[in-house]
Amino acid sequence: MAPNFSWLRPHPHGLCIGPAGAWIDPSQPAELALVTHGHADHARGGHGRTVATPETLAIMGLRYGGGGDEVPVAYGETVDLPGAVRATFVPAGHVLGSAQILLEHAGERVVVTGDYKRRPDPTCPPFQAVPCDVFVTEATFGLPVFRHPPIAEEMARLLAARETGEGRCVLVGAYALGKAQRVIAELRRAGHSDPVYLHGALERMCRLYEELGVDLGDLRLAAGMPKGALEGQIVLCPPSALNDRWSRRLPDPITAMASGWMRVRQRARQRNVELPLVISDHADWDELTATITEVNPTETWITHGREDALLRWCELNQRRARALAMVGYEDEDD
Ligand SMILES: [Zn+2]
Ligand SMILES: [Zn+2]
Repeated sequence: MAPNFSWLRPHPHGLCIGPAGAWIDPSQPAELALVTHGHADHARGGHGRTVATPETLAIMGLRYGGGGDEVPVAYGETVDLPGAVRATFVPAGHVLGSAQILLEHAGERVVVTGDYKRRPDPTCPPFQAVPCDVFVTEATFGLPVFRHPPIAEEMARLLAARETGEGRCVLVGAYALGKAQRVIAELRRAGHSDPVYLHGALERMCRLYEELGVDLGDLRLAAGMPKGALEGQIVLCPPSALNDRWSRRLPDPITAMASGWMRVRQRARQRNVELPLVISDHADWDELTATITEVNPTETWITHGREDALLRWCELNQRRARALAMVGYEDEDD
């Protein structure tokens, strides 16, 4: 008989761990919430008690101002939840503090990945494959068309644009949590030691990363800089600021955006992006399928994105799988 894992139930607003009276990444306030990482579609404020890595708790504190009990759990550490459920937090390689959560109950093991990627990221420890019965995987880029190029190639294109744009700056749209810091850290790795200029909306998260031990080099606010001083420089802003009034104070910006969605030309056009950089913090198609093969669970539950193609891939490969209908996930995340 197939196991049914009835102690873990998908709901539209999160995964409910029945015997523990707890939720994973609930989109509504919960008495007891386990949170995989700080992106807004996973981490909400207002929970009675929040169990997460110290980094994720710090990120949530910055965004929601704390409140409620906090239970910090380091990577590799296990906490006992009510109802004889054990939860262990394992690196997911997605953003600083991001974790997969291994749940153990009644001799069964379930891993909930949250979001993850397999590429190296200088701002967080790498994803670890954990053996389990049920593997709950995200599928944000769950279509074979999504194959992310090596980040070194995208960094080379960014640095080349800076050389060729006489009298211009390069303005890179990047989400405030994770993507902005990864782009900066990769610029440093590529040997770029000049100041990186920031839109004010990115400053606090960058400073928090630094406080938590991620070195980002010389960061300065773009506001108040004379136009001429920004010529030839790299400036980062949230995607929403790429085409707004704020960017008019910059010297004729070459508009770039760092996102897995830049693979889709129409998305780049929508944002008037001249230099689309395909940089994603999610597993691409090859990484999703390779990860399922490596983890080799009895069952794969697919959520958070394009479930259908991955479901079909599982069936073609004689893997038991189901798509979870969960809502509330949108792409701060890319
Ligand atoms: Zn997500
Ligand atoms: Zn995320």
